[in-house]
Amino acid sequence: MSISAALAELPRPHIDLSDVAAVLRDHYGITADDILELGSQQDRNFRITYGAHRAVLKIANSSWSSDSLAAQDAGMRALANLGHALVPTPIGESTTVTLDGTEHVVRLLTFVAGTSLADWDHLAPPVVAQLGELAAHVISDLAGLRHPGLDRWLQWDLRQARDLVQALLPRVEDLLLNNNIFTFTTAACDLLDQLAPLLPVQPIHGDMTDDNLVAEAGTDGRPVLTGIIDFGDLALGWRVAELAVACTSVLHHDPRQPTAVLPAITAFHRISPLSEAEIAALWPMIVARAAVLVVSGQAQLAIDPDNAYAASGSLRERAMFDVATSVPMEVMHQAIRSALDLPTSPAPHLAGRALVELQDPTVLDLSATSELLDAGRWQQPGIEQTLASTARHGAIFRHGEPRLTRTPSLSLAEPATIALGAEVICVLPLELVAPWDTTITEIADALILHGPDADIVLRGATRLAGATAAAGTPVARVGAGDALLVQVVVPGLLPPPFTTPALAAGWLAVTSDPSALLGLAPGTATCAPRHTPAELMAERQAVMASGQERYYGDVPPEFERGWRELMVDVGARSYVDTVNNVAMVGHGDPRIAAASARQWLLLNTNSRFLYSSIVDYSARLAALFPPELDTVFLVNSGSEAVDLALRLAKVHTGRSDVVVINEGYHGWTEASDAVSTSLHDNPRAALNRPDWVHAALAPNTFRGLHRGADAAAAYAEDVTGLISKLAAAGRAPAAFLCEAVYGKEGAIALPDGYLTAAYGAVRAHGGLAIADEVQVGFGRLGHHLWGYEQQSVIPDIVTMAKAIGNGQPLGAVVTTRAIAESFAQEGTFFSSAGGSPVSCVVGSVVLDIWEQEALQQNALHVGSHLRARFAGLAESLAAGLLPAAARQSLVIGALHGMGLYQGVELVHAGDDFAPAADETLALCDRMLDLGVIMQPTGENFNVLKVKPPLCLTRESADHFVDALTVALSTGW
Ligand code: PMP
Repeated sequence: MSISAALAELPRPHIDLSDVAAVLRDHYGITADDILELGSQQDRNFRITYGAHRAVLKIANSSWSSDSLAAQDAGMRALANLGHALVPTPIGESTTVTLDGTEHVVRLLTFVAGTSLADWDHLAPPVVAQLGELAAHVISDLAGLRHPGLDRWLQWDLRQARDLVQALLPRVEDLLLNNNIFTFTTAACDLLDQLAPLLPVQPIHGDMTDDNLVAEAGTDGRPVLTGIIDFGDLALGWRVAELAVACTSVLHHDPRQPTAVLPAITAFHRISPLSEAEIAALWPMIVARAAVLVVSGQAQLAIDPDNAYAASGSLRERAMFDVATSVPMEVMHQAIRSALDLPTSPAPHLAGRALVELQDPTVLDLSATSELLDAGRWQQPGIEQTLASTARHGAIFRHGEPRLTRTPSLSLAEPATIALGAEVICVLPLELVAPWDTTITEIADALILHGPDADIVLRGATRLAGATAAAGTPVARVGAGDALLVQVVVPGLLPPPFTTPALAAGWLAVTSDPSALLGLAPGTATCAPRHTPAELMAERQAVMASGQERYYGDVPPEFERGWRELMVDVGARSYVDTVNNVAMVGHGDPRIAAASARQWLLLNTNSRFLYSSIVDYSARLAALFPPELDTVFLVNSGSEAVDLALRLAKVHTGRSDVVVINEGYHGWTEASDAVSTSLHDNPRAALNRPDWVHAALAPNTFRGLHRGADAAAAYAEDVTGLISKLAAAGRAPAAFLCEAVYGKEGAIALPDGYLTAAYGAVRAHGGLAIADEVQVGFGRLGHHLWGYEQQSVIPDIVTMAKAIGNGQPLGAVVTTRAIAESFAQEGTFFSSAGGSPVSCVVGSVVLDIWEQEALQQNALHVGSHLRARFAGLAESLAAGLLPAAARQSLVIGALHGMGLYQGVELVHAGDDFAPAADETLALCDRMLDLGVIMQPTGENFNVLKVKPPLCLTRESADHFVDALTVALSTGW
């Protein structure tokens, strides 16, 4: 039977629900309470509910042999112990019924509950990895299965993809698509034919697609695979086809990139190692599978136009095909090898003479760390030309370089930053000659010189030769000052000028260093990274303590540059930094760098000498406070500042007890750690707390013990009660210490009147009030310069750090002269580098910038805009308008803070505001993909902490909320 004939007989059986009810009653003795049709290309499947049970009734297309159906049952049984993933199992015996005048095999199977993975839009790398793991387990469990029904003709068997596509292609009416399918299928199947003798064949499920994988939401809201259904395609097939089919079904999901499947491949390979031939066959097989899906979908629609399941699938199938063919198969082959840590192919070999002998060109660095691009120069339009024009004879930009000049400041997708050739810009015109006897073709703006082992692609040159050129004869000309891109590539491939970091490994393996073509020493016109982020991580782990905190999982991106509110990784991608309150006036500020460099050249020494910068800076700092807070101590960090503040209070009062609030963080030194009560930072904080530390209730009106209208009074009573109790016990506290805005909890304002009550109580008993402004001070709140102003109080001691040095180690304690004098009675104080000349100069320049750029005003304006956008997002979430968040019933429970210190508290809808902790962390990972650096905070780690550099622009704020909206819509 021809393929067309076989397929022509495969429309779904015509059956109505009364037939189904009758079959159930007559053959299984079941009276169904509910019958729901499930989608199928060629069969009819129904979910049956009877009493407390559910099952699936499958009415097979009459063309299936009973042998193959029995083989499916055997396959399901073979997979019955598949770890955590469930498979359906047959209930009772299959039977044959005559419906619609034809005999059909009918089977009843257990129902595997859950949602189809296809319902999830975005699939994060760990989810994609699950597909690979499951495919590997299925392969190993099916390996020993023997059944006569396994060896059968099946439309989906990729061993005959070419024949199937050929047979069905006439039904694809779109001419361009038709042509593409033909071209790509032919290329893929040519490769598969060569590899076929080396590819193991065994029983495979054959249809491990997102549609047939059942998932449940994990605690982080990402899908966890819980089952596999639909054994209709179980048959003999290529072992690696199991993986190829699974990978293909990932391609229509967000982010719709071919490299999105790499985690599945690496996971499969870890469990069930792929042979060289299987690795080489994988992408051609994915292309073939996508082509088979497209042609089959179109053909099915032609014979069964009412099949809504097939109709809805056709768009997805098209997307899979487009993504699978968006990059040459060989490039994906190399990308897979690189992901598997296998050597990639040797770079294409270049022999022959040079295209041109460049005289003394200047190689210009356009990487993320280039000095040429400091101070935001990379954002200047035309910067590449501007830099090139400074080169005396001409400039070269290197092959392989991640070019900072190619990154947009704000982008939701990874931009194409990696150069796939060397660019030459010369002062004089250039004439290029053929390196060998060559044929020449032209595609769009690319002139291709075909060589024996490599092609040379020239962009930006005017053709001088015809279809052929002899070695040494002119082939092209480049005008003075024009940019010529020279690419060396494996014959037959045409690289784009730039690619994304995700695809870099694949493309760089098929291109090579064009130095020799330009008459330069090898390596001159190319560059390779010093290390991968993974290698750097391994080095970090080897040399640094595991307890030293770090963001972003096991293989974090490597950041080496910042500029204002942006941070840039070594792939030259720019991200909006929403967490860095240390870089208050922004990253990479040249004014700070220049002042610091100048001071280094003058003097940097310990603070016991007399020099002007320490005096100037201290005076400027004191001037930012009410007159009574007039004395300044300079240290190196927030921890030191808090430590010193505690000592000041203890010495001044002659007491040792201190009252703090729960769920706070104040530093890592012995004393600042003792007053840090956050169990999130230190789960043993409550157990190892020294007896001089007394913690009041966390005054969190949203989530704390007291909520609602009376909460403020209740918290005030709690803290004043604690202070009175201590005093009554003869342990009146030396101080009450807390953050003036609850930073650690995600920028929650303290309850109204809280500090008035607490400061009043501690002072009534002779103690002092300490405000920790390490996070919230310096106008970050927009409305207020200092957090304590929000509570209309004035503390006795204020601690500052982080922002005040913009990252330079600098901390300060500001207090009254009397308190400082008491401390002097105890002896002298010095902190060698605290308040060093360099630190003080930096502190002063930070203040200059902060004033000149009116950053408190900016915090107010951009902060208010952000708040309004968050409020809009909260409304959309509450209305269930963002699908991925709605699936998890994720909503914004509260918006905390003000200005550029805000907290977005993510909870599950419902009365108890259950914190969405795992989701929040996963969301932060997804935000990185979308170009935003964001981190969680709060005792439950479910609050997005929003504390960007104060120079955040409205556009960057919008990018942040846009990215958050995308993540909450498509998934994380
Ligand atoms: N106080 C508060 C409120 C803080 O948030 C921190 C640090 N996160 C510190 C003190 C300690 O500052 P540092 O890390 O500079 O020692």
